[in-house]
Amino acid sequence: MADSKNITIIGGGIIGLACAHYLMNEGARVRIIEKNEVGSGASHGNCGLLYFTDIIPLCSPGAVSKEILRTLCGTSPLYIKPEMDFNRFFWLLKFASHCRYTHYRKASIEKYEILTYSLNLFDQIFAAGDIQCDFEKKGILSVFKNPKNLDGFQATNDFLSRFNLGYKRLDRDDTLDLEPALSADIAGSWYNEIDQHLKPDRLVKAWKDKLVAKGLVIVENCEVSGFHIHNRKVKTIRTSQGQFASDAFVLAAGAWSAPVAEHLNLLLPVQPGKGYSITMDRPDPCPEIPCMLYERNMVVTPWKSGYRLGGTMEFSGYGTGLNPRRLKKLLDGAGAYMKAPAGDLCLEEWASLRPMTYDDMPIIDRSPDHDNLVIATGHGMLGLTLATGTGKLVSDMLLEKKTEISATPYRITRFGT
Ligand SMILES: Cc1cc2nc3c(=O)[nH]c(=O)nc-3n(C[C@H](O)[C@H](O)[C@H](O)COP(=O)(O)OP(=O)(O)OC[C@H]3O[C@@H](n4cnc5c(N)ncnc54)[C@H](O)[C@@H]3O)c2cc1C
Repeated sequence: MADSKNITIIGGGIIGLACAHYLMNEGARVRIIEKNEVGSGASHGNCGLLYFTDIIPLCSPGAVSKEILRTLCGTSPLYIKPEMDFNRFFWLLKFASHCRYTHYRKASIEKYEILTYSLNLFDQIFAAGDIQCDFEKKGILSVFKNPKNLDGFQATNDFLSRFNLGYKRLDRDDTLDLEPALSADIAGSWYNEIDQHLKPDRLVKAWKDKLVAKGLVIVENCEVSGFHIHNRKVKTIRTSQGQFASDAFVLAAGAWSAPVAEHLNLLLPVQPGKGYSITMDRPDPCPEIPCMLYERNMVVTPWKSGYRLGGTMEFSGYGTGLNPRRLKKLLDGAGAYMKAPAGDLCLEEWASLRPMTYDDMPIIDRSPDHDNLVIATGHGMLGLTLATGTGKLVSDMLLEKKTEISATPYRITRFGT
């Protein structure tokens, strides 16, 4: 019976909270164990896009050559630390081997399914009207400096249109009419009205407060460092605050899921992909629509309460220290597209780690060796967007209900684990 289940979630990011939400809806008693504070990982300072149209996997044909070209031009958001790290090397090789059309098509169809599922579930959550987080439905403007790239997006758009996710092409003048905060020397844009945005730290706080009021237990500053297993079941977890027993467990530790899973002798192919953001007060003029700056692969997100530049992808281990060069890249990128790239007041410079899988698909599955443990990680660039779909799938799996969409694409066994 769901209402007799006592469930412990490892990791208090947006994925852990979403799992708690759906499990508690079914009557489960839930506890989150978090090594720092809830929402202190990647879920804090990300770009805040509910990017439901982003069905195309990162590992798509041409991705590697495009990044090499950007690196030569000095505009690449990618940095790979040159050091001997076997796991990272293997991960990168696997990523490159997935840059094929067959994977592109298969993963897009599978991503479409979970993204659409998540969109519908977010609609239900926001319909209640009790989560205040600067949520807005304004779509996304994909902005291009280079006319060739603007034309080149046509092929992507033809593919997206097959899923009814097509963008509308706007020339320079129409783009500037729609978004006057962009500089006059852009080539044009592609616009969709489907995507949404919000302030991620406000979402985490509001959602956490709502769940705590309903009985969610949160244990912060508590690091999980081991598991006690008996008869294929996790009985207790070992933490910096002692042992915790539960009927079932969820591993939702984001980019840190792989080191936690090592305590279970489980190899998760999840690499930390470091990203940065700078949050400021609103510049003048401030955009009203989130803008994806195509050639720089970075995002400008405006809210009524502020403005954020976010992006970059570093494969350099688990450090979250700030590199001034990466922060400057964000400011330079915005400078190339926006009339006023920065607000007067810098509110926060931030970096954290995305949980990246080499096929750019999340892992949402039971542990192969532990009957009462579900793993929910590997959401890469889309963890905020995929949170509701993931939370509902995890809840249905743990409470032994039929999942509403197929969970096969997210199975851990696809890695040969
Ligand atoms: C710059 C940037 C921009 C992004 N923009 C977007 C966007 O616009 N839209 C989108 O959908 N996604 C975006 N993302 C991705 C998104 O932020 C992540 O996919 C998502 O936050 C992952 O959520 P999570 O809950 O899995 O991980 P996290 O939020 O990182 O949470 C994991 C938690 O587990 C805790 N933990 C780790 N180890 C342990 C342990 N041993 N014991 C206990 N707790 C532990 C951590 O402290 C952390 O709080 C962006 C990411 C970055 C970096």
